[in-house]
Amino acid sequence: MKTKLGLLVLPLVALSCAGHVAQGPELGPGFSKVKDGIYVFAPDQTTTTCSFVVTEAGVLMVDSCNSPLDARRMSALIRKVTDKPVVFLIDTETHSDHTANHFIFSPPATVINHEGAGAGMKKEYNPKRAATLAAQSPEMREALKEEKMIPPHIEYKDRMTINLGERTFELIYLKNVHSFADTVVWMPKERVLFAGSAANVRTILNLRPTVVLPDVLAGYKVMKSLNPEVVIAGHGQPTTTIIFDEYEGFYNLLMKRVGEMAAQGKSLDEVKKELKMPEYANWQGQDRLGVNIDAAWKSVKK
Ligand SMILES: [Zn+2]
Repeated sequence: MKTKLGLLVLPLVALSCAGHVAQGPELGPGFSKVKDGIYVFAPDQTTTTCSFVVTEAGVLMVDSCNSPLDARRMSALIRKVTDKPVVFLIDTETHSDHTANHFIFSPPATVINHEGAGAGMKKEYNPKRAATLAAQSPEMREALKEEKMIPPHIEYKDRMTINLGERTFELIYLKNVHSFADTVVWMPKERVLFAGSAANVRTILNLRPTVVLPDVLAGYKVMKSLNPEVVIAGHGQPTTTIIFDEYEGFYNLLMKRVGEMAAQGKSLDEVKKELKMPEYANWQGQDRLGVNIDAAWKSVKK
């Protein structure tokens, strides 16, 4: 993923709002330490976030980064801060930008996501992805030599608790919020939530046909009820529950407008031509408004 300078402005604002995020130059660009032993790679709104948590019994990772080069940088940082192995790798979703680099960490890592994740990954698997990436640079080609898809070794149902060393991780399934299987990872003692991609940072999301907006809104309620101090989204820099409030505002307004236009007898095509969301003109991904209208249309037409 390329970073344009313009993209850096908003996430930096979010970062300073979060307040508690420490950033050390020794970690490398895009990396931050959000709490003791909790490291996040999240350089901007578009790049896939990946994270790791150090415990006395080993490392738990959340997602395996978008590029294999990012994954290698993460692996190097893990080696810098601990000599413990990566024991668990939790997937917050099935999409390849979060799951394609498991081969860099597993073995030894055991990969975990909700029931249906492996089937979802196989369904979406694009065998040409690695070759396309490899063509970018010799460095990329080299990093992809051992590339293969690694679906979850463990698929849980609804909830799962992992006690690793001194830390507890609660895996919570959110239904229909982004991909074929979406997991959020909650650390109750540290009050850190790895929230996946149901909300990112001020970006109109690419909603797939499986996404159900009322379920997304229910997911935000679940995540807010945990009362996290730090929220790590699937894309975008470390933030707070403010992102759930922002997306609630966006989807509620979108559904209201779509509902009103449908009640006036307008067709989906007419709604797509006429509906505007000027309040969110500064969000990334404006070209995805159409798929958001599709999702809103489905929920108001029910
Ligand atoms: Zn995704």
